[in-house]
Amino acid sequence: MRVIVIGLGVIGRAVCLGLARRGVQVRGFDARTSVHREGSSHGESRIIRTAYFEHPDYVPLARESLRLWRGIEREKTERAPLLDPRPCLVLGKPESLVVSGVLTAAHAHGLKVNRYSQEELGAEFPWLRAGESWSGVLEFESGILHADRCRQALGDLAVRLGAELNFGAKIVGWGVRGDRVWAESPAGMVEADRIVLCPGPWASETKGLGGLPLKVMRQVSGWMETDFRVASELPVFFFDTPDGYFYGMRSPEGNSIKLARHYGAPEKSNVLETMDEPNADDADCLARFVSSHIPGLIPSGREATIRKMEACRYTLTPDRHFLVGELPGYSGTCFTAAGMSGHGFKFAPAIGEMVASALVGKGVFPGIFSPTRWD
Ligand SMILES: Cc1cc2nc3c(=O)[nH]c(=O)nc-3n(C[C@H](O)[C@H](O)[C@H](O)COP(=O)(O)OP(=O)(O)OC[C@H]3O[C@@H](n4cnc5c(N)ncnc54)[C@H](O)[C@@H]3O)c2cc1C
Repeated sequence: MRVIVIGLGVIGRAVCLGLARRGVQVRGFDARTSVHREGSSHGESRIIRTAYFEHPDYVPLARESLRLWRGIEREKTERAPLLDPRPCLVLGKPESLVVSGVLTAAHAHGLKVNRYSQEELGAEFPWLRAGESWSGVLEFESGILHADRCRQALGDLAVRLGAELNFGAKIVGWGVRGDRVWAESPAGMVEADRIVLCPGPWASETKGLGGLPLKVMRQVSGWMETDFRVASELPVFFFDTPDGYFYGMRSPEGNSIKLARHYGAPEKSNVLETMDEPNADDADCLARFVSSHIPGLIPSGREATIRKMEACRYTLTPDRHFLVGELPGYSGTCFTAAGMSGHGFKFAPAIGEMVASALVGKGVFPGIFSPTRWD
């Protein structure tokens, strides 16, 4: 079987790897360079967590992803690690989705978690300030993925197993002819048996996905210096505050933390409307979170200062669940893994396996990800 993959962010590369592992002849195309920063997959880190507050159905997929990332870490030739395992603390009001959802997922799948009252949070994590009557939950099958290395490792392994990855190669059109697909690349027309669309935030301009209710949201991460000793022991943290969701984690160099707001920005129809550089408002938003909720991470005698920022994009479905499966109307030739809704990185290897298995006729897609769920 021959397969064309459009888009080589973390998801497209994982699909290429899954297919190459099954001996499929795969040709991947990306309009940009291998390390560009215009999409969703770039940067130093992403959180991986397992007690999944978004829906308990993600738990087996998250566990599988953790296992697969560890396998990829062993398999790759470069020795730098992909995963920094560390606990993940969520906190907010007890009825908040993040707190109640983590408990529901942990209970449903027998995951070990520790629970904390507001007083216990203050005693156990003296760097944070919890709101009135908040509670917290700490999970342990979690950590920090080194995003740039992970993406590179997926691509390198796929190539080692025979995949052809083309960068600077925009697909400007594709279609179906009989039971075959064609795509127009800068190198000319290519043909295959199947096509997989993984265009990230460029979904609205991709044939097959343009009619689906996907939106793009600009998100900004910022870095703040902190005490090295504190950062080295810091869990990943995720707060549900009155101003929205905020999360953070230590940077690989150890003396700073990365912070970001999750969701909360305007939803746009087109990726081009989300390309603004980080600005003073973004820095203020993160600094306010620091002062209000994690004051103990500000180096003593200083103010909360965001020293560096980077913008990135989420591709959102209305229910925030992924879009993975066969697209109807293309005679069984066209599949997608898109709309990762701001939480897809951790799952990339499991999504790659899921798509590859289905293409070779040995797997099914979960209904929660169905591209036809809005019909
Ligand atoms: C700030 C931020 C923080 C995040 N934090 C987390 C986290 O902690 N944990 C987590 O699990 N997830 C997280 N995510 C989400 C996760 O990073 C994304 O879900 C994931 O990276 C999406 O990858 P993708 O491959 O779908 O998209 P992208 O990485 O954007 O890749 C799409 C690719 O398709 C290419 N393309 C598009 N159209 C064409 C075409 N016509 N021809 C050729 N190529 C094309 C583009 O050039 C691009 O390279 C975060 C995202 C952001 C922005």
